[in-house]
Amino acid sequence: MNNRESLKADIPATSVAAERPTNVLIVGVGGQGVIMVSKVLASLSQELGYQVKQSEVHGMAKRGGAVFSHVRFGSSVFSPTILEGDADILVALEWAEGLRWLPYLNQESGTFITDTQHIIPPFACRDRGRGAVSGYTRETVPEVMDSVTNSFALDAAEIATELGVPKASNTVLLGALSTALEFPVAAWKSVISKFVPSKTIEANTRAFDAGREWALSFDRETQLKDWTDRTKQDPEKTTDSSADVVSTLEITEAWCKGCDICVKFCPERCLAMDARQIAILTHPDRCTGCRICEWLCPDLAITVHTSKNNIST
Ligand code: SF4
Ligand code: SF4
Repeated sequence: MNNRESLKADIPATSVAAERPTNVLIVGVGGQGVIMVSKVLASLSQELGYQVKQSEVHGMAKRGGAVFSHVRFGSSVFSPTILEGDADILVALEWAEGLRWLPYLNQESGTFITDTQHIIPPFACRDRGRGAVSGYTRETVPEVMDSVTNSFALDAAEIATELGVPKASNTVLLGALSTALEFPVAAWKSVISKFVPSKTIEANTRAFDAGREWALSFDRETQLKDWTDRTKQDPEKTTDSSADVVSTLEITEAWCKGCDICVKFCPERCLAMDARQIAILTHPDRCTGCRICEWLCPDLAITVHTSKNNIST
């Protein structure tokens, strides 16, 4: 066994030969690609000869609403839904949604693969003040990793952004998921290529490889230390609402389709549409860094950066 294979042994692969169906629950919020992940898995299982049942609830079809999908595959599958405590794998594309669905995971043998990305519904913001704590989830990554034995928390959004494909964080998670199932890598890539726009196949393949690589090289102790350090530095985890928190907006003009949503929903009226129908920040001094524009933009064209005491996110 080479080094990589021995590291892979850290992730409990779910046997596709198991008699009972394999239950995979995929959760997140609208706009993240939960349904794409679910369809890739269902389609792949079917291509490999398994009986598959898939059910999904889109929640609000808009970006931000809860979305979940149950995928069950095996030699024989009857019910399309997974019972509480019966999921073999829980894949969360959003942190709080992952925590909300944790009771569905088999507490003894289940595997939790989660993006650490926080997407806070605009109306859950109790305090929009500069540097305010959102109060959305209090549980930190190390706390959750400690309480769930087979847990894998990765910043898929950051990995995808570093690859230059920020919209492909769901494919990064598919890469991580691929290490927990005994399906051929080539088959994963082939199916993924059918569910993404043809011009993004290469980018999504890179995102898949990056997620897979991350999972194969996963080391729990290193990850726990890394997340403990990050948690200490996260401005959202501090209670200091001092004015030294600085927010800057990055608007990717090429992705802005001029829908006006960010302009309409910015509580501080900081944004406007320019003559080209591209969103621009007109009043940076008023911006509280609440991230509502970032969460609501359907095209992921806005990224809010906050910094405090030289720590930036
Ligand atoms: S930045 Fe996003 S939300 Fe704002 S106008 Fe452009 S596409 Fe719409
Ligand atoms: S520009 Fe965005 S981050 Fe700044 S206040 Fe408006 S919605 Fe919030």
